[in-house]
Amino acid sequence: MSYQCSKCNSDMEEGFLLEMGDANNMSSQTWVAGKLEKSFFMGVKLKGKALYDVKTFRCTACGYLDSYAVEKR
Ligand SMILES: [Zn+2]
Repeated sequence: MSYQCSKCNSDMEEGFLLEMGDANNMSSQTWVAGKLEKSFFMGVKLKGKALYDVKTFRCTACGYLDSYAVEKR
């Protein structure tokens, strides 16, 4: 599957935005459906929400970033 840049129509390469919060627990950014809810115990409430991995494509010519939310496997 190849993506074209919506700005300059050059090829885009696949990648992801890394969440750099904790060096021991690095993962890609996650997109969560719905509004952010904070929980007293857990920080952010995720129970029952749809979670998606965020894939980000980078244009090799102009550097434009384009993100897609894809279902977690
Ligand atoms: Zn471009």
